Amino acid sequence: MTALAWLRNDLRLHDNPALHAAAALQQGVVAVYVHCDAYVTRFPIAPARLDFVRRHLRLLTSALARHHIALRVLRVAQAAEIAPALARLAQELGISHCFFNAEYPLDELTRDQQVHQLLRAQGVTVKRCHDRVVLPPGKVRNEAGAPYKVFTPYKRKWLQLASLLPLRPLEEPAPQVALPCPPASAQDIDRLFEGHTLRDLDALWPAGETVAQARLQRFISQDLDRYQTQRDLPAVAGTSGLSPYLAIGALSPRQALAAVLSRTGGDWNANPGVSTWVSELIWREFYQHLVVDYPQVCMHRAMQVHTEAFPWRQAPEDFALWREGRTGIPIIDAAMRQLNATGWMHNRLRMLVAMFLSKNLQIDWRWGERYFMEQLIDGDFAANNGGWQWSASTGTDAAPYFRIFNPVTQSQRFDPQGQFIREWVPELAGLNDKAIHAPHLAPSGPPPGYPVPMVDLGASRKATIALFASLGQAQVAGPVVQENSLSDTGPTPHRPG
Ligand SMILES: Cc1cc2nc3c(=O)[nH]c(=O)nc-3n(C[C@H](O)[C@H](O)[C@H](O)COP(=O)(O)OP(=O)(O)OC[C@H]3O[C@@H](n4cnc5c(N)ncnc54)[C@H](O)[C@@H]3O)c2cc1C
Repeated sequence: MTALAWLRNDLRLHDNPALHAAAALQQGVVAVYVHCDAYVTRFPIAPARLDFVRRHLRLLTSALARHHIALRVLRVAQAAEIAPALARLAQELGISHCFFNAEYPLDELTRDQQVHQLLRAQGVTVKRCHDRVVLPPGKVRNEAGAPYKVFTPYKRKWLQLASLLPLRPLEEPAPQVALPCPPASAQDIDRLFEGHTLRDLDALWPAGETVAQARLQRFISQDLDRYQTQRDLPAVAGTSGLSPYLAIGALSPRQALAAVLSRTGGDWNANPGVSTWVSELIWREFYQHLVVDYPQVCMHRAMQVHTEAFPWRQAPEDFALWREGRTGIPIIDAAMRQLNATGWMHNRLRMLVAMFLSKNLQIDWRWGERYFMEQLIDGDFAANNGGWQWSASTGTDAAPYFRIFNPVTQSQRFDPQGQFIREWVPELAGLNDKAIHAPHLAPSGPPPGYPVPMVDLGASRKATIALFASLGQAQVAGPVVQENSLSDTGPTPHRPG
């Protein structure tokens, strides 16, 4: 009898609870990755992210093979074909147990329940583990046993619970008995993605667990202590750049936290850099939990229900200017061009461009949310939806609707010498440090080829505040208890002592 480890957005050998649990049975392990075409066509997935996964799988198949774990890959057209395809594989290989790590968005949950049902009917024991978050959904609750809607008390409780955990990453699985099952070749993996648009950003975002670990260690040793002062400056590489690796699971949040705690001797608050970075990882976790407790966010619904009445503009031409970085507001244009060129955008700029789209252009935040997922190499449904709903003031614990960032002031504050703007909007490189933030106000106006602002920041701000104010009593959606037939493995296994 053989154990199956179904890999999804947990593409790593180390600290992988599903793989670890499968290997612990000591009866031989096969890993499987299923590519579903409908997931690419139905949900926006950036070509850069698809290619990142492809490159990563190529490395993972070799790493797993060194442990006598064959990675099999399957391609299906529709989500409904995933469960039957896995059931056939289970039959072919004589699988007795199947393990996978949880994914929380609604469609993924439905898919996992279908797989669970079908495999169980075939006599396979199916177990779900949690690796995407340090504390599984449902664990962080207020005194009344309800989910938190506000981040600060959530964070307090999260820290209280997490500090009781050993937080020791699991080691790589023990070598297994070799099975007569050939692993997927590089060509097999490439074939999974044939017909999809791919974008190779290997020079910027090399794949692999080893790279993720090296980036983590470099950030912890060189930049963590200065994170709090540098993280808002887009011209400085002051953040970890780990989001793509966390998104596909080349790195686990527990590995990230364990690295911090190992550096600080277990102190979560060793300095402001440490506590601020940990706080960002908790924001990530907060959004993952929201998806489970408020699954309506997976159906394009706003968390603040009353904001659904906001009269968002349908303005495809204005949307195109925003997408292409031709708004006439230099920091917005620089940010969008960074996104389009690198598949990644600095966090402060994500907030700025999202607010600009939703508050100054009054374009539906869902358009921006979708465009981000089409471009981001770190595209993650929970973090992206959370970030957009925060910026558009439709989310729980979102930016208040009357506090709208002025992108010019923000640019002066966080890119004072216009270094970032100069890099991404070269047509403005010749302007002085003052004019570069608002070239239309310079005596000579913007240089040829650069547009004047597409919108009046002051007037649009006022109009948006008035529209929000007219929406009436604020009303935040209530949590939904989801039916869940999946059985978890119990406490995540930890490496002994
Ligand atoms: C509109 C908008 C959309 C976003 N879309 C995504 C997305 O699709 N995928 C994604 O991973 N992040 C998203 N974020 C969050 C954040 O911008 C990125 O995680 C961060 O910029 C990644 O850079 P880093 O790895 O250097 O982060 P660091 O500053 O080094 O932070 C470490 C890690 O913490 C997590 N994190 C940091 N900030 C946040 C945050 N505000 N919310 C949730 N998690 C956070 C990320 O996993 C990140 O890698 C979005 C934010 C906004 C405002």
